Amino acid sequence: MNLAQTLLRIALADPRRPAVHEGDRLVLDYGQWADRVARLAAAMLDGGLAPGDRVAVFMRNHPAYLEVLYAAWWAGLAVVPVNAKLHLREAQWILDHAQARWAFITPDVGAGLQAPGRTVDASGPAYDELFSLPPVPVAARAPDDLAWLFYTSGTTGKPKGVMLTHRNLMTMGLTYFVDVDAIEPEDAIVYGAPMSHGAGIYAIPHVMAGARHVVPASGGFDPAEMFELARTVGRLSMFAAPTIVKRLVDHAEATGAEGTGFKTIVYGGAPMYVADIQRALRILGQRFVQIYGQGESPMVITALPRRLLQDTQHPRYAQRLASVGFPQTPVQVRVATEDGEPLPAGGVGEVLVRGDTVMAGYWRDAEATAAALRDGWLFTGDMGSLDEDGFLTLKDRSKDVLISGGSNIYPREVEEVLLLHPAVAEAAVVGAPDPEWGEVVVAFLVARPGLQVTVEELDALCLEHIGRFKRPKRYEIVEALPKNNYGKVLKRELRERLTKSQ
Ligand code: AMP
Repeated sequence: MNLAQTLLRIALADPRRPAVHEGDRLVLDYGQWADRVARLAAAMLDGGLAPGDRVAVFMRNHPAYLEVLYAAWWAGLAVVPVNAKLHLREAQWILDHAQARWAFITPDVGAGLQAPGRTVDASGPAYDELFSLPPVPVAARAPDDLAWLFYTSGTTGKPKGVMLTHRNLMTMGLTYFVDVDAIEPEDAIVYGAPMSHGAGIYAIPHVMAGARHVVPASGGFDPAEMFELARTVGRLSMFAAPTIVKRLVDHAEATGAEGTGFKTIVYGGAPMYVADIQRALRILGQRFVQIYGQGESPMVITALPRRLLQDTQHPRYAQRLASVGFPQTPVQVRVATEDGEPLPAGGVGEVLVRGDTVMAGYWRDAEATAAALRDGWLFTGDMGSLDEDGFLTLKDRSKDVLISGGSNIYPREVEEVLLLHPAVAEAAVVGAPDPEWGEVVVAFLVARPGLQVTVEELDALCLEHIGRFKRPKRYEIVEALPKNNYGKVLKRELRERLTKSQ
């Protein structure tokens, strides 16, 4: 079982089928794509990489992203796609931890990244030189072989590498057709969100179906560009965090643009407010599907399909709209006590998942693996409850994470950076509710007696150490942090202060 076979079979059966677009320009058909992938795989193997080795990808969204993913799999390697918004130091840490031998970068994102083997600028001439060798056949892989190391931020401040196998991703891809949407070859997926995450993972079902892949020319998300692609390319599907959905809806409302060029917008990755999805349905129409997943069971835990989002007459429609749907086909979902004991319907506990999309474990982290995978179940760290019909409603996260614009931010990481400032004695970072971003980062700080600290200094410190999106939007200097008897900072109290002061 090798994910690359899904590309080869379409290329053999229908080589002239349009495959990859940069903006509205077709750059590759399936035959050309598979041929380039097989040559790039040859260059990787010739360049000293061996099956099982890791290849890091630290790039903006770019057509080469799709070539590198499939070439690595074709050669029997695993990919390590790194969030393009991370700081160079963070990306280097991930590359080192993953022991990746090669890295592909675009200079706007990855300049300075150093791989022990080669670092290739995928937008430059060195990349073009990698296509001169004859194509190699698809490497044999076992279902449990590593395909993708997906780094998520960890509560301890250091990211963890989620090991996703060929079986995990093959199952995820097939499940899309059952639980999310049918895909026709004329359809197109547009990469409006980072390809290192859900958007890139959804390349897999779209390759399986032989559909078109559209990488926006800007390499990022711009609502006007997206609506223009919907007009020119059409039949677009995309994965979007609630923040991105909101920006699409705002744009449509402001300009009168219609949703007709979008086939399906899959939303998830962070909580969607009921009022926001209702507005999105009103303005863009019935083209939404919700999924709930996490890196550890990518895109596959529950889904709220289009037909249920349309079923406004259902007696429990309001609750269903506020839920994340019901379990996707290949997994079992349970709400349980800390010990894993299942709770009756209505009980609030931790969400547990079991099935073929659940990760093999964390890379080189047996302790974290043992904590997350117990008795065959993945402990997601999300709190929720199941109703009698099997619909899951998320309540809160048990992990100390906040989600801003669909990106997870672990407060500890930000706190550690703020504490580097000589005038900062204590720091506590929490999320404040925000209509645009879901949550924004707010830092509460206690200054050392007699010392001054400025916002500019704190901002500069953050920009030096962590991704820009993790930087606090607001700093509150306080006399003392609220603490319990054990001296643990009461973050709930800080969050309540923020809600009250709004
Ligand atoms: P990541 O591992 O970066 O994909 O983040 C996964 C986390 O995002 C989950 O554990 C949830 O806390 C949250 N999440 C994902 N999908 C949804 C959703 N549809 N609604 C609410 N939260 C979600």
